[in-house]
Amino acid sequence: MAKLNTEKIKQDFPIFNQKINDETLVYLDNAATSQIPKFVEEKVRDFNEKERANVHRGVHALGLRATNQYESSRQKVANFIGANNAKEVIFTSGCTDSLNLVAASFGEQNIQAGDEILVSIMEHHSNLLPWQQLAKRKQAKLNFIEINSDGLLDIKNLKSKINSKTKIVALTHVSNVLGTINPIKELTDLAHEKGAIVVVDGAQAVGHFPIDVAELNVDFYAFSGHKMFAPTGIGVLYGKKDLLDKMQPYRLGGEMIANVTREGATWAEVPYKFEAGTPNIAGAIGLGAAIDYLQSLDFELIQKHEQELTSYALEKLKNVSGLTIYGPQKSNGRIGVISFNLKNIHPHDLATALDLNGIEVRAGHHCAQPLMASLNTESTVRASLSIYNTKDDIDKLVSSLHEAKEFFS
Ligand code: PLP
Repeated sequence: MAKLNTEKIKQDFPIFNQKINDETLVYLDNAATSQIPKFVEEKVRDFNEKERANVHRGVHALGLRATNQYESSRQKVANFIGANNAKEVIFTSGCTDSLNLVAASFGEQNIQAGDEILVSIMEHHSNLLPWQQLAKRKQAKLNFIEINSDGLLDIKNLKSKINSKTKIVALTHVSNVLGTINPIKELTDLAHEKGAIVVVDGAQAVGHFPIDVAELNVDFYAFSGHKMFAPTGIGVLYGKKDLLDKMQPYRLGGEMIANVTREGATWAEVPYKFEAGTPNIAGAIGLGAAIDYLQSLDFELIQKHEQELTSYALEKLKNVSGLTIYGPQKSNGRIGVISFNLKNIHPHDLATALDLNGIEVRAGHHCAQPLMASLNTESTVRASLSIYNTKDDIDKLVSSLHEAKEFFS
């Protein structure tokens, strides 16, 4: 079967044309931010050099071209995630912004005292704090779905926590610590049976495998561009149109109104009522270009490559004595986000030692402190894979771990 051409892909990313600490760059912090291909940068630069103007305002040629590009990116996003209607795609500043929008608008309007909100223990703070604060404001109850010893969502526990009082189930599609892929379709069916709506944090999923929001039947789906080869500062909230239509705007100002008088205002239709002020036009165009770039590769090959590499990494890491891997130990049902600790070495020290060898990983609590607490640790080292990573990168990681063990012993 055909394979992803990682050598060629690496050449698409200018960041790799440099040394880090005099070493070849091994970039393993893709779960935080992926790198940006030249193709995307050029599209953003072209817009700024040839078409820059504000959207939805001017009748002049540049304004119309900017608007066309911005709206064509929205359509690309809709097609990419399987949304039935481009109006269901709201541009935001990122996944965090998207999730806050749902909590502040849908949550504020629909949650009442005594209601329940269900999240999982593996949520990033972005998909926890908006719900935690909403629950406090509304005197609602926040419940947590636990994980089992394999780092998978405990479905029995979920079934025991979901009931007719549950109004919102907010879940990550993929854990940014454990790499676990959650069975969203199954969970959505369960939630809908109880009359709850489902909000999915797709930050770690989009770009790694195909997403079809209509098939998953989720009510809201949030993600960031910068984790899928687009610029920073652009993200998406997908929402079912009938829900979005009933929601109040989250921010007020220009662009989001139908009419304003001294006494009051009426709102523009979706998605514009949620895009107050000048949006990140260049970012949205960059996101459209990132989708074009991803689609120029084959998703099946991307998945196959990342799964093989994850499997290879898990096997190699298991041979490092004193190393604990958190989360699923096999490559199926997970992606290449691998958290680990090496006995008696603080994660920050280990990440610094790896950096000296040009290997960029993340160390810390990964904005998932309740999960860290349930794993009985404060922090981990996290290596996260993408389309340009190779077995050679994993070999360098493993040999540097051995080196660090020697050094710190
Ligand atoms: N959710 C998950 C699972 C993440 O991994 C992240 C970022 O690391 C976020 C949400 C927040 O994304 P952003 O910082 O781009 O808003």
